[in-house]
Formats: sequence, C-alpha cells, structure tokens
Amino acid sequence: MRYDVTIVGLGGMGSAILAHCARRGASVLGLEQLARGHDLGSSHGKSRMIRKAYFENPSYVPLLLRAYDLWRELEQRTGEELLRITGLLMVGHEAAEVITGARQAAREHNLPLESLTAPQIRARYPMLRIQDDEIGVYEPDGGVLDPEKSVAAHLHDASAAGAELRFETPMENWKATDDGFVIRLADGATVESRALVLSLGPWFKQALGKLGIETHIQRNIQAWFAPATNEYAGGRFPPFLLDRQGLPAPLYGFPDFGDGVKAAFHAHGDLTEIAQLEREIDPERDIAPIVRAMEEWMPGAARSLRAARPCPYTLTPDHHFVVDRHPEHPRLILCGGFSGHGFKFAPVMGEICADLALAGDSRHEIGFLSLRRFRASGD
Ligand SMILES: Cc1cc2nc3c(=O)[nH]c(=O)nc-3n(C[C@H](O)[C@H](O)[C@H](O)COP(=O)(O)OP(=O)(O)OC[C@H]3O[C@@H](n4cnc5c(N)ncnc54)[C@H](O)[C@@H]3O)c2cc1C
Repeated sequence: MRYDVTIVGLGGMGSAILAHCARRGASVLGLEQLARGHDLGSSHGKSRMIRKAYFENPSYVPLLLRAYDLWRELEQRTGEELLRITGLLMVGHEAAEVITGARQAAREHNLPLESLTAPQIRARYPMLRIQDDEIGVYEPDGGVLDPEKSVAAHLHDASAAGAELRFETPMENWKATDDGFVIRLADGATVESRALVLSLGPWFKQALGKLGIETHIQRNIQAWFAPATNEYAGGRFPPFLLDRQGLPAPLYGFPDFGDGVKAAFHAHGDLTEIAQLEREIDPERDIAPIVRAMEEWMPGAARSLRAARPCPYTLTPDHHFVVDRHPEHPRLILCGGFSGHGFKFAPVMGEICADLALAGDSRHEIGFLSLRRFRASGD
C-alpha cells in the first residue's frame, strides 16, 4: 500500500495533521512510537492556554484566529468540550514583554484587550498581591484547552475520516525516492508514501540538527496544588501570566478546575536530551521556587502539592516554530519546535501541513516560521 501522506508522531500536532489530511480524502497513515494516550511527549498536563493578543509576535494572530474557529469545529464534529473561554490576566511592569507585546498585537489586529492599573487589578482580584509598579492586561478571549482530550479528539476525527493509525510503531528512518519516500519502521517493515510529515515533538532535535539548526530540549515542570481557599476556583479566577522582576522566569497558571491550582515557570529548566529527561520530581529544586513565587502573588493558592510532572519544551534558536518544506525534499514537511506555546495552534498547523503535503503550498502566511530565517544572510 502506498499512502498519499504519512505523518510520523501523533502528539498535539501530528494528531491534528492526520485529521486534516484524512478529511481532505487523502489516504493517510499515522505512525506513533508510543502507546495511544501516552504522557511522555509535550502534550500532556490537563490544560494549555489559548489567547489572541500574542505578545511573542503579532504575525501569529491570523493563525490564532483560524485556530479558534478550528477548535470549535472539532468540538462540533466530535461532541467533546475542548476549549473553555475564561479570560486571561497578564501582569508585569510597564515594559514587560507580555504587556507591550500583547498591546502591540491587540493594536495591530484590533483585538479586545483591557488595560488595568495596579489599584484596578487589586479591586478586581483582592486576593492577589500586586506590586505598585505592576500593571495588567486582561484578554476576554483568553481560554484553556484540554490537551489530552484534544489529541484524542483529533485522532478520533482522523479515524472517522479513514486514516490508518499505528501505535507503538516507531519510524527508524526515511529515504527519499523519485516519487516519494520509503519509511523504515523499527520492526524492519517499510511503508511507501508520496509525502511525509515529521511532527516529532522533542524527538525533532536530530532532524533539525541535520539541517544545521540547533534545538534545545528543556525540562519544564508543571505542578498542581491544593489551595487553602476557594478564591482561585475556575469561574472565579482566570488563567494568568506574571512577568515579575526577581522571578527566575515568567510564572503562569490556571485556576482550580477540580485538579487543583496549576502553576509553572515558562521556559525555565535544565537543558537536556529527551532520552535523558529526568522524570523524577525533586521537591526542593522543582517545586519550592514555584511555591515561593505563588505565595508572593496568589497567597494560599499553593498550600500543598498534589502532583507535578516534567514536560519538555523543544526550543529553536529564536523560540519560534518551524513549519516548512524540507529544502531538498519538497514533499517532506517539518513541523516542530513548538516550545512552550505551540499547543493552541494544533488545528491550524493541521490545516497548514495538509496544505503543504497535499498541495505544496499553504493558504496561510507562514514565512516567519520558515527554515530560511536561520540561514545566514546572502545564503
Ligand atoms: C509544560 C508545558 C506547558 C505548555 N503550555 C502551553 C500553553 O499553555 N499553551 C500552548 O499553546 N502551548 C503550551 N505548551 C506547548 C505545547 O504543549 C507543545 O509545544 C506541543 O504540545 C508540542 O506538540 P508536538 O506534537 O510537537 O509534540 P508531542 O506532543 O510531544 O508529539 C510528538 C510525538 O512524536 C512521537 N515520535 C517521536 N519520534 C517518533 C518516531 N521516530 N516514530 C514515531 N513517533 C515518534 C512521540 O512519541 C510523540 O507522541 C506547553 C508545553 C509544555 C511542555
């Protein structure tokens, strides 16, 4: 059997790409090295933030607007609730990137974003400890995605559209042929495919390394706490991002939706290799700094630890994604480097990679995610 598209890696991105390719009527194979629903990649942890006023770069906004629509369409097709609109509070000093960047994105794309002074934040959220030089922006369209349910929904959507899924089936390597690819599996079997998409998450490092792009795998910790008060319950308190001077990194988190208050530092942790990722939690090193930061911001929210898990970020040199065709093999699509902010884009990445794999080009503006940006000027 020769497939139109083979997608290797069925995490947040691969599951969406599989669904989008299959829904266009292509013959599609999805290969995943681990078991269905595994939590060893980067798409687990019960909650992922979604927002539109994108401080990282306003170029993401059109993709986000499309992603919001596609999440809703996926919910309708699968009957699953995946996206909750909760609003989102971002706090920092006047020049903090989360504030200036969110304002710029909101201005450029005419997005609703409310500015709050320190007294206004205190009045709205009396439980918070706000410093006098801090201000806030509140994004009413901010929300929360359920990553495990989202991956499962995309896989279900893909199966319903006729995709073939194989779990516990690692790809060993691939070879380009005149009209496609031969993919060798770990058990020695081979698969032929006209197009190939690699969405390998933290296992992507090697593929990008071969193109001269150095990526890093960073061990980030997500932790859940039993709060001492119900003031931080979902519905009463929004997800937040705090860029406070003196913290080791921006602190973000989610209200208690039933599993406790979740908190983590963004892009903060040892650099490692995915095969060597330390999965044991060290309370002093991993949890104590989060508790200290939380106590200074949301007193009582992190009374006792309920659970904690490492989750790796895959970081490109500029922390932006790579979504592009391979420079030598135009039907090989690379989709990775999603750092700590990629999940919300999964369905639009599905649409883009389906465009690239099946039509050779995308309707979306993705030049800023291309491989070209890493090449020296004049190259
Ligand atoms: C702690 C943390 C918090 C985050 N918070 C947010 C957030 O709030 N909002 C947001 O938008 N994003 C967030 N992100 C980012 C987002 O979750 C990730 O960028 C995204 O989930 C990555 O998806 P992926 O498909 O690239 O990787 P993964 O989900 O890891 O999928 C890669 C898959 O490829 C498979 N694979 C690898 N090699 C092979 C092979 N040879 N053969 C077969 N299969 C293979 C793996 O087993 C894995 O299943 C966060 C990430 C982390 C770690």
